[in-house]
Amino acid sequence: MSSFELDPLFRRIEDRREEVAALTAELVRIPTINPPGDAYEACARFLGERLAGRGFTVEYLRAEGAVGDSDRYPRTNVVARIEGDGPGPCVHFNSHIDVVAPGEGWTVDPFAGVIRDGRVYGRGACDMKGGLAASIIAVEALLDAGETFSGAIEISGTADEESGGYAGAEWLAERGYFSKPRVDHVIIPEPLYKDSVCLGHRGVWWAEIDVKGRIAHGSMPFLGVSAIRGMGAFIERVERDLYPRLAQRRTAMPVIPDAARQSTLNFNSIHGGAKAQPDEDGFAAALVADRCRIVLDRRYLMEEDEADVRAEVVEILDTLARERPDFSYELRELWSVPPTLTPPDLPLVQALDRGIEQVLGQKSRHVASPGTYDQKHVWRVGKLKDCVAYGPGILELAHQPDEYIEIDDMVASAKVMAAAALDLLRGGQ
Ligand SMILES: [Zn+2]
Repeated sequence: MSSFELDPLFRRIEDRREEVAALTAELVRIPTINPPGDAYEACARFLGERLAGRGFTVEYLRAEGAVGDSDRYPRTNVVARIEGDGPGPCVHFNSHIDVVAPGEGWTVDPFAGVIRDGRVYGRGACDMKGGLAASIIAVEALLDAGETFSGAIEISGTADEESGGYAGAEWLAERGYFSKPRVDHVIIPEPLYKDSVCLGHRGVWWAEIDVKGRIAHGSMPFLGVSAIRGMGAFIERVERDLYPRLAQRRTAMPVIPDAARQSTLNFNSIHGGAKAQPDEDGFAAALVADRCRIVLDRRYLMEEDEADVRAEVVEILDTLARERPDFSYELRELWSVPPTLTPPDLPLVQALDRGIEQVLGQKSRHVASPGTYDQKHVWRVGKLKDCVAYGPGILELAHQPDEYIEIDDMVASAKVMAAAALDLLRGGQ
């Protein structure tokens, strides 16, 4: 469709500028903090009631029995669907409704939904209630404009993305909600810039390593084996041998920001030795640490193999076991996700590319995310490859204090989403 034909639809979206800001603020005021997974039910009902009022068929789906689900913290998901005039493809907008804890350093109330200077502030404004609001406004404007289409449009709000999505997008994917023939194209409005289509993400490999020692009196450490010294030796080898190697591995994946366009490794946490009291801060007892634990967060590239990612860590540990007397360890793999990258010639990418050109007058940028998001479940479980992230907001603001979303960005990306959806539903005409 030409930009000329889309103008009335775009004007309708511009007219809803205040509404998209107000809707984002209302969503921010529902504090869906995860963990523990608060207020999912309230947020799902809020979305469901709004969309039911617009003619959508609404389902509330509690992920009973999934990790984290309880009567106190029900994992409630909402899926809303509206049919067009006849059979055709289904375009699905999937947003996670959970947000991370606000943390310190805010200058505004993180759950007040403050609207100021063309922005909506609050925890989740950027990641990703602003994107969710933009997708709702896009679809509502499309319906109000009386645009005819075949097929169906779905909007979902799902739980637990911030903790892996197992009671959210994955749970739904296991039940066919992200598979053909029900759904053909999935847009996830995560905050990855209004001019960019995010094709996928790097892989993840998380592991926990216990270095074992032998307990002894702290005044006579020669009688024991310090697990902390053993862990120190491991970290030193990683610094010396592994970090330089990782830094050299550049990927063909268009990962942003640029510093993430390589393999990375983070030590997420470390603990060694006894505590004075189990739940207190304070000096440890006078003991040689008999255990030290570290959690590794390795992000890997499509050019790397997960088995090799594991092997290069094991090799360092095995070398230390040969070189240091009494060095022993245990490695447990906690979590892994392979990299995903949607081929840019798939219809959804093409439709979003055209939409970005029509709305912003510039060529779209193809990017990949440094971290994973729910696309992995659509790919792996739903076996649906025509899935990308596209939504308003600045990636680096996610999880930060004073998180915000620009209202202009929401309006622009809502236009792109509406244009792309119509394009797909009308067969790329
Ligand atoms: Zn997110």
